[in-house]
Amino acid sequence: MPIEINHSRCIQCIGCASVCPTGAIELDGLRMVFHPEKCISCGTCVKGCPANAIKFLPKVGEEKKEE
Ligand code: SF4
Ligand code: SF4
Repeated sequence: MPIEINHSRCIQCIGCASVCPTGAIELDGLRMVFHPEKCISCGTCVKGCPANAIKFLPKVGEEKKEE
């Protein structure tokens, strides 16, 4: 799973869902739901989150990419 959403920080601005090129994040009721099978690990949602609620998880055996 390449990203992780911190639901206690998330303010449901839907920014991540709107910038995600593959529709891997969507609002489901009151929280953002991540679909790992759709994610291409582009990192756009991580940079765009105003609440710092999304963490990029490096793949196993891969170092964290530069900010
Ligand atoms: S890393 Fe890219 S593809 Fe994956 S959820 Fe974020 S914006 Fe979407
Ligand atoms: S961009 Fe951040 S604060 Fe906004 S909905 Fe996504 S995870 Fe939540």
